[in-house]
Amino acid sequence: HVERDQEIQIARLKLPIIAEEQVIMETISENTVIILAGSTGSGKTTQVPQFLYEAGYAENGKIIGVTEPRRVAAISMSKRVGREMNLSTDIVSYLIRFEGNCTPETKIKFMTDGVLLKEVESDFLLLKYSVIILDEAHERSAYTDILIGLLSRIIQLRNKKGNPLKLIIMSATLRVEDFTKNLKLFKEPPPVINVESRQFPVTVHFNKVTAEDYAREALIKTIKIHTKLPEGGILVFLTGQQEVKYLVNKLRKLFPFYGNKNAKKEEIKTESEQQLNYSDDEELDQILNIRKAIKHQKKNKKNLISQMTLPKVNLDDFQMPGDDTEADFNEDQDMLDENFEEQDEIDEKLNEMMTGTGNSQPLWVLPLYSLLPSHKQARVFEPPPEGTRLCVVSTNVAETSLTIPDVKYVVDSGRQKTKFYDKVTGVNAFVVTFTSKAAADQRAGRAGRVAPGHCYRLYSSAVYSNQFVQFSPPEIQEKPIDGLVLQMKAMGIEKVINFPFPSPPDRVQLEVAEKRLKILGALDNQEVSKITKLGSSIASFPVNPRYGKMLALSHQQNLLEYTICIVAALSVQEVLQEVPLSGENGEKDTKWRTKRRGWAGNGNSLYLGDPMILLKAIGAAEYAHSQNKLQNFCDENGLRMKGVQEIRKLRVQLTNEVNLNVPNLSLAVNPKMEPPTDQQAKLLRQILMSGLGDQVARKIPDDEIKLKEDKHKFKHAYQIPDVEEPVFMHSCSILKKKQPEWVIYQEIFETRNGDSTKMFIRGIT
Ligand code: ADP
Ligand code: MG
Repeated sequence: HVERDQEIQIARLKLPIIAEEQVIMETISENTVIILAGSTGSGKTTQVPQFLYEAGYAENGKIIGVTEPRRVAAISMSKRVGREMNLSTDIVSYLIRFEGNCTPETKIKFMTDGVLLKEVESDFLLLKYSVIILDEAHERSAYTDILIGLLSRIIQLRNKKGNPLKLIIMSATLRVEDFTKNLKLFKEPPPVINVESRQFPVTVHFNKVTAEDYAREALIKTIKIHTKLPEGGILVFLTGQQEVKYLVNKLRKLFPFYGNKNAKKEEIKTESEQQLNYSDDEELDQILNIRKAIKHQKKNKKNLISQMTLPKVNLDDFQMPGDDTEADFNEDQDMLDENFEEQDEIDEKLNEMMTGTGNSQPLWVLPLYSLLPSHKQARVFEPPPEGTRLCVVSTNVAETSLTIPDVKYVVDSGRQKTKFYDKVTGVNAFVVTFTSKAAADQRAGRAGRVAPGHCYRLYSSAVYSNQFVQFSPPEIQEKPIDGLVLQMKAMGIEKVINFPFPSPPDRVQLEVAEKRLKILGALDNQEVSKITKLGSSIASFPVNPRYGKMLALSHQQNLLEYTICIVAALSVQEVLQEVPLSGENGEKDTKWRTKRRGWAGNGNSLYLGDPMILLKAIGAAEYAHSQNKLQNFCDENGLRMKGVQEIRKLRVQLTNEVNLNVPNLSLAVNPKMEPPTDQQAKLLRQILMSGLGDQVARKIPDDEIKLKEDKHKFKHAYQIPDVEEPVFMHSCSILKKKQPEWVIYQEIFETRNGDSTKMFIRGIT
């Protein structure tokens, strides 16, 4: 029996899903698998677990399990459901990697999909669960996809045992054919219930141009909305934590809120002082200029004050994205830019309103991203303090996972951070890309939940039409398949090819991946291969197995610090600026070249080759950073600053992961890391070899060249297995002069000159 507070009960009754409770529960009891589609905010995540609880699915010691692709959703939703049901966190709990509050009494358990996958490893039948809800299945996270495949089999086994397990797949979109039409997955297509919910019209406004600096663009747009448009919450979509913090900081400075509680004020202050990596002063100047410009602009208009507070906006015309009628907003934008420089005298009253302490309405600015502490995440659901306007600056967690109440304006950068797999280097990296059209439309939809709203897209309609894909492809078809195959083998799924993926990865790629894993020694050589002990240890690192192997081996030799550095450096493209042989940059080139030769060392150090340069460069850059001299250091040494920063981030991340994976280890990123000794360099060379051993090239000896017809073609050439054409060392390689007989390389690429092509290898050891 559940006793809810009255206020909660009233809020629940407004949710569209409540009207469907009976249909949903009947369908669940008559079917093993059901698919539940309903737009964001209809109440799926918060209500369905409660329906199940009240229907007795948590009786007899069984648990209701709910998976989320994002940690933030797992935590936040467990809290919300507990609160709605008046049950403690001992009963409604969560578990994410490295953190959780589950107890033996837990009845409803929210977890990340990765956590449930790990549980399958130790309890294949998931016997403690009576029902599993896979939430946000439309996101097509690789883990969710694998879970769907696994659960399609687990439910059969549980049925046979007379101990059935129910599976509920929830999606924010009706695009579920991959689950319903895939006979390998579910022989009988599961029933689909669609929860209709009311959506108010949202007017979509495109920018005329697509600015590169979307964070700044977002700032300007938010300022404009806040100062010119009627009340209503603002939701801004950026790509990552850093950007979110940046914008929050700027907006708080511009429209400060000095509540009556000192505590709040303190909190805001400390948060905004935590900023990293942004040169505040310069930015702030820009902002102040913008403010001046806005003031100026207002002065030029009549009815200043009434404009400030309540301009009329026509909210009834719903535009489909594509038919692009620019909003008045963009005209303002243009005007703003033109008037940027002018500094006429400013209207007294307006000045008062805009200078913070005056009447300018404070903005209640809240950040939202995955790693934000959960009590701070929860604030986005509370009403803003009286007299303020709510503004949430979020990564794409607010796209479908969390519904923020009372949003009327959405500012969409059109970007997201995605984990990107470089097929050449085999390395994972986070890159900022355009979202899909589907995601952009989800974001716009956030503005229309309580009333008609507006979505401001910081990109042009042409970019939307031509460069946005319709849907993001399922992660599983994008991810490095090697790592995935290894993980499945680690779970005892040996015939990966037969696995019922909702959308299977390419068959050939699967086979190639197995072959590569065998070469690495992560799988044994049987026809249907099993994971080896080394493989299990490789699988524990969150990187491509090649690099996982390097990390696993370097632990034995106490070289982890260096290997982490090398793996991080190899994961970022073109960190070293090219030094043209012609010496175009004069002295600078010579200086850079000398520097690199110094970094490469000699003897055993030299033969570590290009990774050694990266290693030393990164070590020195870390030191420069600790002295606040990174930019200078990069300029001096011909390093790409942004690349160096990416490597630093990755290095920290890898260090943390390694610490978590290897017991009794507490590595830190040391700004004073000593360069490796000759002996260590030799070992590092072997470690690189262990991961890149299938990317090997041999210098063609002179006496072999003599026998060839077109001798000139083979001068300084290397040969790689199974390829007739010669390959050459790229001119940026430090080993170009030495030309050792045997090398391994990180990357091979082809350049075209007229009709002829030439292959080069890069990243040579
Ligand atoms: P769905 O899963 O269908 O997208 P949810 O169940 O997440 O919908 O949300 C239903 C409603 O509950 C939304 O209006 C949302 O704003 C509200 N809600 C969710 N979490 C909280 C919370 N922590 N505090 C207040 N309201 C919340
Ligand atoms: Mg949800």
